[in-house]
Amino acid sequence: MGYDARLDKIKEECGVFGVFDNDGHDVARLTYYGLYALQHRGQESCGIAVNDNGTILYHKDMGLVPEVFDDVVLNHLKGKIAIGHVRYSTTGASHRENAQPMVVKYRNGQLALAHNGNLVNAAELRAKMEEIGAIFQSTNDTEVVANLISRYRVMSENIEDTLVKVIKEIKGSYAFVILTPHKLIGMRDPYGIRPLCIGRLDNSYVLSSESAALDAIGAELVRDVNPGEIVVISEEGLKSIQTETPGRSCLCIFEFVYFARPDSVIDNVSVHKARVEAGRILAREHPVDADIVIGAPDGGLNAALGFARESGIPYGQGLLKNKYIGRTFIQPEQGQRETGVRIKFNVMRSEIEGKRVVMVDDSIVRGTTTKRIVQMLKKAGAKEVHMRVSSPPYRYPCFFGIDTASRKQLVASNYSIDDIRKMIGADSLEYLSLEGLLKTPVGAKCGFCTACFDGKYPYEVPHEGNKFSCGGGEK
Ligand code: AMP
Repeated sequence: MGYDARLDKIKEECGVFGVFDNDGHDVARLTYYGLYALQHRGQESCGIAVNDNGTILYHKDMGLVPEVFDDVVLNHLKGKIAIGHVRYSTTGASHRENAQPMVVKYRNGQLALAHNGNLVNAAELRAKMEEIGAIFQSTNDTEVVANLISRYRVMSENIEDTLVKVIKEIKGSYAFVILTPHKLIGMRDPYGIRPLCIGRLDNSYVLSSESAALDAIGAELVRDVNPGEIVVISEEGLKSIQTETPGRSCLCIFEFVYFARPDSVIDNVSVHKARVEAGRILAREHPVDADIVIGAPDGGLNAALGFARESGIPYGQGLLKNKYIGRTFIQPEQGQRETGVRIKFNVMRSEIEGKRVVMVDDSIVRGTTTKRIVQMLKKAGAKEVHMRVSSPPYRYPCFFGIDTASRKQLVASNYSIDDIRKMIGADSLEYLSLEGLLKTPVGAKCGFCTACFDGKYPYEVPHEGNKFSCGGGEK
């Protein structure tokens, strides 16, 4: 697949959840609440599959979790084990057939899979299988993995051995939850790029992309699934299979910067604390004389708090975000774009009028939202707007599950910091250094993928001046 086609392919920016019940819980409802708590990880489609005595029942569709599921559907999804998925995808790949979990029938019965991440060799694996006659119904990576499982299962004693073989074939980022007739399985890629954790609810086990979803159902966080680990939950309890790893991990640093919920804990580090720390370091690296610190909701709020605490400049709420803008928000026509931003955000004039404002955001990707917010602040009477970004310039596209389009659309890839400052109309613009960012997940034991900031991808990617190896704090 050529470079451009590759960039247009689906990027699985998603959330996964799973429950193995030993207490008589309603697994479909627990998964529904779990997915509700993971909605920020994907708003395009969602689905739940349950295992009813070896038969897999499922429901999935385009839309938000409360739009896709109601009591009637959930009452129908009875079983002992469940998995669920929320999915986000880039434009062009928005089809119902790509909604997950993917449910397949093969020689050994039924299987349901849900995936967060992106495989970099899926096209290659798919082409090889197509050459020998395989048929695919969707364009997503998950179907490639389902096919591999089916093939390797023929040569293996059990599903565990099969997955050990599959892990050796697939390259890229993945946090999988898999439902077999009798087991719930979690599987994380050897670099641990996307997060996955294990929770406990009474005597039952839960798997989730983020710990905040465990809190939502009253489950306790046990631990993260390790990079390259396969956890198999069955009547016999939890079994761990540790497969070979490259010896260093590369958790996506952007989970800490923007993607994960601030109330989640990843690798024993609170996402909120890491963001506050980013704001503190940013204030030390790039101080400024100002009257108020505000955050761009919601991503910039925690870092703004850290900036205010470190600098001593009062923290205020300068921007309000409409919480009810969903997928169904009708985008204003070209030329009415201002209306779109005004509906999404409004300025608290009384907080910022006549003041020198520090506005903190977690990242600038394309620069379009930032520009409009700066304009709104100035229009509402801000004397000066000093933009502070709690991560380094976002210069390289992600091939591992964060949707940031191509390099052409990344403003920091094409313009200098001063040009960006002029474009967004700010009085000053400064970014957190990569060194500073890597200090923010205090106590983290893992290393980080920082490819979006330094271009050092953990796997070979097409035409991006790949420097291989993880950039961030190799651990
Ligand atoms: P912009 O100025 O248009 O680049 O928008 C910047 C805003 O986009 C920031 O507030 C970020 O929180 C947010 N953002 C960062 N990454 C993503 C992403 N992958 N998807 C959607 N929004 C994002």
